[in-house]
Amino acid sequence: MLELAVEQIAMGQKAADKNQALHLLASHLVADGLVAEGYLDGLRAREAQGSTFLGQGIAIPHGTPQTRELVFSTGVRLMQFPEGVDWGDGQIVYLAIAIAARSDEHLRLLQLLTRALGETDLAEALRRASSAEALLKLLQGAPQALALDAQLVGLNLPAEDFDELAWRGARLLQRAGCVDAGFAAVLQQAEPLPLGEGLWWLHSERQVRQPGLAFITPQQPLRYRDQPLNGLFCLASLGAAHQALLERLCEVLIEGRGQMLYQATSSRAVLEVLGGEVPADWPSTQVMLANPHGLHARPAKELAQLAKGFDGEIRLRVLESAEPAVSAKSLSQLLSLGARRGQTLELIAEPAIAADALPALRAAIEQGLGEDVEPLPHAAPVEAQAPAPVLAAPAAGSSLQGVAAAPGIASGPAHVCVEREIDYPLRGESPAQERQKLRAALEAVHADLDALIKRSDKAIGEIFLTHQEMLGDPALTDDVESRLAQGESAAAAWMAVVDAAARRQEALQDTLLAERAADLRDIGRRVLAQLCGVQQSAEPEQPYVLVMAEVGPSDVARLDPARVAGIVTAHGGATAHSAIVARALGIPAVVGAGESILLLASGTALLLDGQRGRVTIAPPADELQRALAERDAREQRLQAAWAKRHEPAQTRDGHAVEVFANIGDSSSLDKVVEQGAEGVGLLRTELIFMAHSQAPDVATQEAEYRRVLDGLAGRPLVVRTLDVGGDKPLPYWPIAAEENPFLGVRGVRLTLQRPQIMEDQLRALLRAADDRPLRIMFPMVGQVHEWRAAKAMVERLRIEIPVRDLQVGIMVEVPSAALLAGQLAREVDFFSIGTNDLTQYTLAIDRGHPSLSAQADGLHPAVLQLIDMTVRAAHAQGKWVGVCGELAADPQAVALLLGLEVDELSVSARSIPEVKALVRQADLSTARALAREALQQDSAEAVRALVERY
Ligand code: PEP
Ligand code: MG
Repeated sequence: MLELAVEQIAMGQKAADKNQALHLLASHLVADGLVAEGYLDGLRAREAQGSTFLGQGIAIPHGTPQTRELVFSTGVRLMQFPEGVDWGDGQIVYLAIAIAARSDEHLRLLQLLTRALGETDLAEALRRASSAEALLKLLQGAPQALALDAQLVGLNLPAEDFDELAWRGARLLQRAGCVDAGFAAVLQQAEPLPLGEGLWWLHSERQVRQPGLAFITPQQPLRYRDQPLNGLFCLASLGAAHQALLERLCEVLIEGRGQMLYQATSSRAVLEVLGGEVPADWPSTQVMLANPHGLHARPAKELAQLAKGFDGEIRLRVLESAEPAVSAKSLSQLLSLGARRGQTLELIAEPAIAADALPALRAAIEQGLGEDVEPLPHAAPVEAQAPAPVLAAPAAGSSLQGVAAAPGIASGPAHVCVEREIDYPLRGESPAQERQKLRAALEAVHADLDALIKRSDKAIGEIFLTHQEMLGDPALTDDVESRLAQGESAAAAWMAVVDAAARRQEALQDTLLAERAADLRDIGRRVLAQLCGVQQSAEPEQPYVLVMAEVGPSDVARLDPARVAGIVTAHGGATAHSAIVARALGIPAVVGAGESILLLASGTALLLDGQRGRVTIAPPADELQRALAERDAREQRLQAAWAKRHEPAQTRDGHAVEVFANIGDSSSLDKVVEQGAEGVGLLRTELIFMAHSQAPDVATQEAEYRRVLDGLAGRPLVVRTLDVGGDKPLPYWPIAAEENPFLGVRGVRLTLQRPQIMEDQLRALLRAADDRPLRIMFPMVGQVHEWRAAKAMVERLRIEIPVRDLQVGIMVEVPSAALLAGQLAREVDFFSIGTNDLTQYTLAIDRGHPSLSAQADGLHPAVLQLIDMTVRAAHAQGKWVGVCGELAADPQAVALLLGLEVDELSVSARSIPEVKALVRQADLSTARALAREALQQDSAEAVRALVERY
């Protein structure tokens, strides 16, 4: 994705003419590895087709479709020309933004720029900017326009009080895309301001995406704080966007015309008074945009010019978006729509010119606005939808196939925990009665928690003690009390206060504190259930099988392994983080068993096979007995494995593989060595970064890495450099929101963009190494130049901080890295295959997807092919290959990975004895035959069936 950053800006450049400027820009793109040499021809060819001058002193030179192959990586480079460069027709450019993009990604950039383009005097400000930061601010900092249109006006809405009216205002803002869902709660905290004439004002800057103003009037007369409540303004405030509106509103009130607002019967009347966007009652026509790269600069310019030929207003909007219509005569506004091929444009014209303008503009759009367009495919008629199948609870004796998430066999009564919506009244009977109800509910929940504390171990008991503490927190109870006094029901008051407190907690920069919001919500729900008489199914006395829709990692972490015999979830996959935690706790788990499991009655007997991913409902006695016998046998095997955990892992025919541990911090190291680890195969350093409230400096990191190396006492340590970004942001490291974070700026892509962070980390690692075996690898490498850039940094630092036993490699978790393993193997010292991500990217299934991730099985033959390719390429160059994804600990995968000739398996510490034992049971020649056959299969199921037969 194209984003603007200071590192991309070169200030104070000089060019005699446009040609020289293009030359400079192209050289910059080449030098930074974004494009190949010939890209300059593309820039020139594009300018020959039409100038890339945008207005306001900005040009956006880019290549042509023919030069796309020369782009290695999407990006932009900006050059400031304070003396100006004539871009043709006397248009002077002070800032040129050279774009390297293979597709129409530059539309995104245009969208970013258009806010700035609307500013007056931008050209002059760009010319004068004295630093890259100032220039960036100019491009990004222009105020957004205040949204105020018909959808933000709600007249005569049913509301019982001020809070309900405010809630309705927040809903309007949310529906218009101005605010996030939490805005309603934020608004509850804001101090209302009386404007006079019964009009009130509320505003907040939190949870705001785009500035907007909603105006709401109540159906029946209301009062608030002993004054009439005739209408309420709710402002989602961002910058100074609302300034003009506020001035206008003051004028209206000073002139005593407030009733024109609260007595209005149409949104149009309100908007006319406030100067908002009045919905045009004008003729319109719709046309689908067919331009291959959407409404980008050239066609938009053509459209604006055509529209300017008509003497009257013409507006345009994209039907599929919530954005308001813009003037068709303004190039910058047209670009701000970001209209893409296949979207429907609506042209709206003033009645006097509509008959001429609409058909002319429509025809011009259909003909491509000066570009060749391919007709759009006709939309297939929408098939009548088959009725959704009615779900029923699985029958006794039946089995459900899910995904094997944590090995082991478990049986016990189901404890089905499904969060159902609980309805509750907003208004209470009387404050005294509601107060009494709440007190009783709080006492009952307190007593429940007492019982939980008594039967939990210390660590888990602590959690429930915290919950008890929260129940009596005066900050909560005081707020609840004042709501009760205003007539709210106990349930409404309690939930509003808990929700607001949880949101405040979630907004904290500190991840650990933010996670406590889950505790607040937990007790919030317990009390609500008690107030509404909703029975929460009691936790069974004997060890049970927990059944949930999905289990978050923190849910699993607080489970008591002594009470929870197994876990079954309806959604989720084997590499979801909850599954990883379940494995670490040693609780057998099956995930992705399907929605029907949630319909089981609590108490139904379940048998769970965490190795085969199977759940049997009310199993027949003989099946249960067989399974329990298998469990006991497994138990014995594990005990035997434990006894031999410190011995090497060697197949029966003498082939040795290394079994290493995956860890996330330095504290668990003793345990890891005690479990038999021969080294650490994956230190996930992002977990170290996440444990700090700000980026740890070199010394802090060095101390942490030193602790790990000390604990390993000469065993090798494989460290992965910081793997954040995408779905794993660091709270103190703001990263722009992305539509597809898994395909976005994450792993090494991100650290290469912030070289200081990477340099600090590498420096700390090299300093900590002394003479001990250190292996450094980079996550998410998908391109050879990424590896080279990262490696170059290590080489540079290595001169300064020599390390005797250092190897540098990459993680293979993007299919392109496996496909280019031949080229990469010549340069790296080793590969470590991250099968979790490799599976997600190969099968195009989000590893945390609620329903699909169940199919993201690392034993899929497509993934195995990539592993095979990687190993062959590495061995041809004498390099070693490890597997550090969850697949390495899957009992059905171990022999197969041996057969693919993987040299090292890195697994969670708990799995080490078992994985070593599995290696000892195998022999290499059989494993090789198994692997060859597996590569020929057509599905993961077929591979698993094959392994069972072997
Ligand atoms: C992987 O992707 O397999 C891996 C080991 O990395 P992570 O699970 O931390 O993304
Ligand atoms: Mg990964």
